[in-house]
Amino acid sequence: KKFMDASCTSKVRVIVRVRPFLSHEIPAKNGNPSSCISVLDRDSDSRDEVTVHLQDPETSRKECYQLDAFFGQDDNNLRSIFEREVSPLIPEMFRGRNATVFAYGATGSGKTYTMQGANLLPGLMPLAMSTILSICQRTGSRAEISYYEVYIERCYDLLEDGAKEIVIQDDKDGQVHLKGLSRVPVNSISEFQEVFSRGIQRRKTAGTGLNDVSSRSHGVLVVAVSTPGSGDSGAVVSGKLNLIDLAGSEDNRRTCNEGIRLIESSKINQSLFALSNVIRALNNKEPRVPYRDSKLTRILQDSLGGASHALMVACLNPGEYQESVRTVSLAARSRHI
Ligand code: ADP
Ligand code: MG
Repeated sequence: KKFMDASCTSKVRVIVRVRPFLSHEIPAKNGNPSSCISVLDRDSDSRDEVTVHLQDPETSRKECYQLDAFFGQDDNNLRSIFEREVSPLIPEMFRGRNATVFAYGATGSGKTYTMQGANLLPGLMPLAMSTILSICQRTGSRAEISYYEVYIERCYDLLEDGAKEIVIQDDKDGQVHLKGLSRVPVNSISEFQEVFSRGIQRRKTAGTGLNDVSSRSHGVLVVAVSTPGSGDSGAVVSGKLNLIDLAGSEDNRRTCNEGIRLIESSKINQSLFALSNVIRALNNKEPRVPYRDSKLTRILQDSLGGASHALMVACLNPGEYQESVRTVSLAARSRHI
């Protein structure tokens, strides 16, 4: 398969996930609302292209876009996304490669649910952590996590109290270095849950002291693994996986933002646009990849491109046509070759 062939470098897969309607979105009388999103050419065994159709229930306007895979409302199972899309990235980390998984979409589209999970249903972050920990046990590797957020082009450590700001530096070896960022060793999934859930609490106010900035910042969980003695002449081999709950991609004009909200959302939009440009440049094998256009893409410079792999999960609310078109068109634009 093309995707798994390490010589085929830096292909970023772009997939769609539609969340189900929530109970309060279902009218008591008329039964189930109909989704504005559907898919044709679906072949569940294929890792090839799907065509996603969006239709405005009011005007019947239609749009369609090509993406790499589709997980619909009825497919409400993170395990299938995990197994088909995320789990192939994990062995690569133990070979010294970096990988990234993003959840992209408007607020309320299911990004946090997809990445963190809910109550007893683990999301892609804990599912990835479990798989990584079981490989560590077999291979004698060590896993460490970092968790930070990017809010208005500044990075804040979420594994420490006090909204410590983190500065980005370039290492001699081409790795991006986040100076002073906490790295916490993790040996079991319960240790992970404990450290991570404290980080999630901090994310609600970090940097700003304001309540719940979580949908207006990018939340980045990094799992770094290192395996002693597995490289050339006994060197340590290290790799990392970035798992990112991106800030909500809503439209300024619709949300009537002012003041700090407007600054936030214009920075969010700039960084999401920069991310899309970077992914597109990589997918098109363009000679210049514009990593320097935002903090987010700068941070990911050593984890996108080269021999790294990435996955973008475009999350959709099935009742929001305009918003879904925005999300899918940007996702498809990133992919376009
Ligand atoms: P976002 O992080 O994109 O703002 P959330 O992940 O918070 O969105 O999801 C919005 C709401 O939808 C939450 O109440 C969440 O529990 C619910 N939700 C999202 N995805 C699903 C899903 N796949 N199944 C059931 N409920 C979901
Ligand atoms: Mg969220």
